[in-house]
Amino acid sequence: MQIFLQPGPVMRPLLIRDGQCYSSAMIYADHNATSPLRPEARAAMLAALDLGANPSSVHGPGRAARKTVEAARSAVAAALGARDQDVVFTGGGTEASALALVGAVAALKGHCTVLVSAIEHEAVARNAAATGVPVLPVGVRDDGVIDLAALQQILSAWDLDRQGVPLLALMLANNETGVIQPVAAAAGRVRDAGGLIHCDAVQGLGKIPVNVGLLQVDYLAVSSHKIGGPQGVGALWVRSGAPLLPVVRGGGQERSLRSGTENVAGLAGFGAAVRAALRDMPDMTRLRALRDALEARLQASAGIVVFGQAADRLPQTTNFALPGVRSESQMMALDLDGVAVSSGAACSSGKVARSTVLDAMRVDPDLAACAIRVSFGWNSADSDADQVAEAWQRIVSRILA
Ligand code: PLP
Repeated sequence: MQIFLQPGPVMRPLLIRDGQCYSSAMIYADHNATSPLRPEARAAMLAALDLGANPSSVHGPGRAARKTVEAARSAVAAALGARDQDVVFTGGGTEASALALVGAVAALKGHCTVLVSAIEHEAVARNAAATGVPVLPVGVRDDGVIDLAALQQILSAWDLDRQGVPLLALMLANNETGVIQPVAAAAGRVRDAGGLIHCDAVQGLGKIPVNVGLLQVDYLAVSSHKIGGPQGVGALWVRSGAPLLPVVRGGGQERSLRSGTENVAGLAGFGAAVRAALRDMPDMTRLRALRDALEARLQASAGIVVFGQAADRLPQTTNFALPGVRSESQMMALDLDGVAVSSGAACSSGKVARSTVLDAMRVDPDLAACAIRVSFGWNSADSDADQVAEAWQRIVSRILA
């Protein structure tokens, strides 16, 4: 398979396999699942693949590999408004959140209770459950924003001796609805109660500003493949002095917080992707216009319900439903029509799982079963909103006929 970039104002990957061109007509609107590899990331990875040395080796080739890793660290740190030495590379966003939660609980010797917002990704919710300490859910309002009053109520009644340190996990932006969370406000409340806060910023990076100082968090997870870098690469930012023990032990890489030889090529791609994503942040204005046009068109013509529309959302994400048209039927028909979207909720063997996010927002289960997520990104063309809308309208009239 070869990948070429179609020249034009927006580069769209062209996939050539066995001499066949597959994706020139394909509309890819699933950037919240994985954003296709950016050309800058691909070029950086190809160059790094030829370094052929261990970044811990002291010889010249080893030093070149180390330089690549550290350049990536500087790029990620700069994107977060952080210091290089506080960034720990991991094998993705899930591993970064696992390190934060399991590692913090271990460092606190289990004398803590984890508070988990009801809309967290499984990467956070499941690792919180695996810590072995009590886990308390914190609800969200109908618009998908964490209920700060409920959080305050829990913290006001907190018994430090009995419950230990409160450790809140609150994401920056939700992967299904795009709803942005008031992380700094929540962090202030948790800090006043003597607690710590972990923020899963996997969906926020590259789409909205992310600054660890402004967010006032203790741990923050990011992932490369959501911004056009390679999959299986991520990072955890750790506030200097925040309690943390490693989960993976070994050769002492990453300040002994995540042992294992660094993924040099993956990190080169992550670094290049993060630089490109920051450079392209102004393009979010264009993507917001695409998203808004799509919603306006389908609301006017079909009466779709848009989830989280009343809240502040990621500019390029929409999650909507039309009663009676189930998610999996829409996704399969759209796929056949060359439009890649997702239901937002977990999906296995073609069956879409019930969305815990929409459940937490008290969306009627029959309507939630009809939700689809459209997420635009760096290679979305201006015509994509119209093309998605047209394909969707065609498919829905077929399903409803
Ligand atoms: N957190 C959120 C909000 C996500 O959307 C995802 C990916 O879907 C993850 C965490 C997991 O990241 P990764 O796929 O890099 O493990």
